[in-house]
Amino acid sequence: MDSVNIYKEYCTGCGLCHSVYGVELVSDEKDFLCPEIANDNIDKLMKVCPCGGAAAKEMSDKDIWGKQENVYLGWSSDSEIRREASSGGVLTSLCIYLLKHRLVNGIIQTVGDNVYGTKTVVSRTEEDVLKCMGSRYSVSAPLYDIKQLVKENEVYAFVGKPCDVSALRMYLKEDAGLCKQIAYMFSFFCAGTPSGTAQKMLLKELGCNSRSECVSLQYRGNGWPGYATAVKKDGTESKINYNDSWGKILGRDVRKICRFCIDGIGEMADISCGDAWYLNDNNVPDFSEHEGRNVIFARNIKGLELLKKAMTDGDIIADKYEEYEKLKFIQKYQYERRSTMYAMIRGLRICRVPSPVYSKNLMKNYRRNAPVKLRIKRTLGIMKRFIKGKI
Ligand SMILES: Cc1cc2nc3c(=O)[nH]c(=O)nc-3n(C[C@H](O)[C@H](O)[C@H](O)COP(=O)(O)OP(=O)(O)OC[C@H]3O[C@@H](n4cnc5c(N)ncnc54)[C@H](O)[C@@H]3O)c2cc1C
Repeated sequence: MDSVNIYKEYCTGCGLCHSVYGVELVSDEKDFLCPEIANDNIDKLMKVCPCGGAAAKEMSDKDIWGKQENVYLGWSSDSEIRREASSGGVLTSLCIYLLKHRLVNGIIQTVGDNVYGTKTVVSRTEEDVLKCMGSRYSVSAPLYDIKQLVKENEVYAFVGKPCDVSALRMYLKEDAGLCKQIAYMFSFFCAGTPSGTAQKMLLKELGCNSRSECVSLQYRGNGWPGYATAVKKDGTESKINYNDSWGKILGRDVRKICRFCIDGIGEMADISCGDAWYLNDNNVPDFSEHEGRNVIFARNIKGLELLKKAMTDGDIIADKYEEYEKLKFIQKYQYERRSTMYAMIRGLRICRVPSPVYSKNLMKNYRRNAPVKLRIKRTLGIMKRFIKGKI
């Protein structure tokens, strides 16, 4: 299969190739950033892009939830952060902790911009970090100018989607200078980046006919999960619940790689967080409003040590995660995407279309977690989508 096509088809839009190799990125009709890849970039990209499989070679094949030193259930001890943040505010509290204890000079992270846009900023104060709090269910390219953002003699933490962290983690092996400057990497569970088209549909559902009618769009938070809320220029506010915003609009139109992402759980980060949803009696996540909770994965010793310090100092309240066995219901989409990846990639191969090049052994190990019926359904599903021209 032509490598350039694989990289074009399965780009995550993180922007690293722009910052480091000067690759141009242009927005497609759905507002996804797409690289102008040339043949001479391919060898470099193979070492960093998630679809090239370099990171997948470093993932744990022992546990479907990936590398871990410990797993906790927790939230920020600051009740306002816990309320305003995406889940329980653990990521925001960790960033503030790092700045407060001068463990880093800044946090490279994503903030909302112009209703549903995003930009990458370096947060240097608690106030800066608080502005970034919450989930932006829209296109972000946190590595687009990472090399240009860092200042000599400073160290940083980075917060990004699992694919951003994965690309950065792989690239740092090549760049010893930048490696010394990125002290921590945090990520979150991610089911995918919704398109610009999905943003417009969401705005419409919220009663805004255009971006310019709106002054702000919040996707969740201010409760858990909170409501997707748009504020119009005339000050009126409209909102819809999480199930309707994510489930019926945003989650239906995500970037292509997101459907074939093998790491939606932040395995390459030092610490990764997800929603620790409550389950109803039928083991279905309960999206009614509660106080926010994170499932917190300390992915390595460095992450574990930081988390323990933040817990001992009282910034994060957390305890051993007792519902680990139920995570397959709590994070059903993540569980099924990982365990059926082999089946989906097989579907792509049967159709002779480009596919990400993940390690066969890894996918086969995850495959044990999915019933045969579901795997067959996924392979056939890919083939049907191909026949309908949707792949
Ligand atoms: C695109 C997307 C998909 C998600 N899918 C899932 C999922 O499948 N399962 C699940 O459990 N949770 C999902 N989440 C929510 C995420 O898991 C929670 O944000 C996580 O539990 C962290 O919660 P928190 O309260 O600690 O985060 P907060 O304390 O609110 O901090 C969130 C951090 O994420 C950063 N951030 C927000 N949006 C973006 C973005 N688009 N790109 C880069 N950085 C960003 C912010 O800058 C901030 O640093 C998703 C979030 C996003 C943005």
